[in-house]
Amino acid sequence: MEKHLSQMTLKELIRPEGIRCSCGKVHRCGLKWFKTGSGIIRELPDALQSIGARKPFVVMDENTEKAAGHQVRRVLKDAGVPYAEFVFPHREGKMEPDEYAVGALTMALDPTCDVLLAVGSGVINDCCKVVAHACGKPSAVVCTAPSMDGYCSNSASMIVNHVKVSLYNACPQVILGDTDIVKTAPDIMLQAGLGDMLAKYVSVCEWRYAHLIHGDPYCEEIADMVRTCLKKIVEQADGLMKREDAAINAVLEGLVISGISMAFAEISRPASGLEHYFSHVWEMLALQRGEPSDLHGIQVGVGTLLTLWLYENVLNIDRVDTERARKAMAAFSPAEWEARVRRVFGATAEPILDIEKQSGKNLPEGHEKRLQIIEAHWDEIKKIIRDELPSREWVYSLMKRCQMPLTPADLGISRQDTVDALVVSRDIRDKYLTSSLLWDLGLLDEAAERIPSA
Ligand SMILES: [Zn+2]
Ligand SMILES: [Zn+2]
Repeated sequence: MEKHLSQMTLKELIRPEGIRCSCGKVHRCGLKWFKTGSGIIRELPDALQSIGARKPFVVMDENTEKAAGHQVRRVLKDAGVPYAEFVFPHREGKMEPDEYAVGALTMALDPTCDVLLAVGSGVINDCCKVVAHACGKPSAVVCTAPSMDGYCSNSASMIVNHVKVSLYNACPQVILGDTDIVKTAPDIMLQAGLGDMLAKYVSVCEWRYAHLIHGDPYCEEIADMVRTCLKKIVEQADGLMKREDAAINAVLEGLVISGISMAFAEISRPASGLEHYFSHVWEMLALQRGEPSDLHGIQVGVGTLLTLWLYENVLNIDRVDTERARKAMAAFSPAEWEARVRRVFGATAEPILDIEKQSGKNLPEGHEKRLQIIEAHWDEIKKIIRDELPSREWVYSLMKRCQMPLTPADLGISRQDTVDALVVSRDIRDKYLTSSLLWDLGLLDEAAERIPSA
């Protein structure tokens, strides 16, 4: 490896042959063209040509049409590129990535087009990924907001039969992030993007000790690539709400590179930890109740502060109290655990119970094995936490300066939903989180009782 991942240009990161890494793996992602910067929209015809696309199917909604759609049409016309288009009709409330949206898009699709071009951010991009995958065409995206890190992911976050699911398909081949367009996004979307990036402090920290305790494959090069993006973003963060170019560019680039980091690692670990699971649970609960949710990154920002509070407590533990941990394991009731999963997840509890059948994370043998590793490596685990995490006050004050919501109460989320989200976070996937560490130490229920929710 000639250069570290964190020092590579965007072009080097996405080279088609991939990167032979010092971790022994070859990292690659499906993205073929990616640029950010002022006026980049003019390169759209070149970007499409680079993937061999001749006729894009341009997909937008009324808002993204205003933000970028008109410019996309103009640029394509000027370059003599034929296209067809679909503007999602106005729907009451927030547009959801559900069967209705995918159906509406599919009915309108012009089969003579050879690429789906999403003009938007989360929902439009996700719907385009699903339809492009279903009809065997590539997808491309013109970003309209720096609001989440899903641009480059190979999964789409969808709602099927009122349940949130990840559908695995393919990542877009082209991502075009024109900062002149992106900086016109509403405040809340800029704040959401920052929230989704601040989460990466926790994700990288958890990834490192999950490697130690749980054996998850870890790559220091990828972790460092994420840290480098995050550093650039926080250095510029005070310019974000003033829509300074450098700040907008740093966030947008960081969000796409986070997506690349997950593709490289072939797991979500570099970009998603416990803070994301607060958001996942809150979103699932809102869907069950037919209520709207806040933007992903806004919830994740609040989840990041909650997780940093948990770490303040973890760092106060001088020595692992194995007796307490073993007592908690001995007192663990699978029936009570199952009752809680059923209470929180309702109709969607079954697949979550199945995860436990496969992973067996609640079994005493696994617990004992992990506990011994934790005890033997306690100083090292605390060092990882100190190395990776900024203080909660520092993140709090940064988020406050950006006028972001700071507590579950700020989002109208109840104390019960916050407590539940923490406790069941470790059940949603077979993934070792901060909550898993606390559970192994016999401290999760106590932490849940004390967690500040307002
Ligand atoms: Zn690597
Ligand atoms: Zn995220």
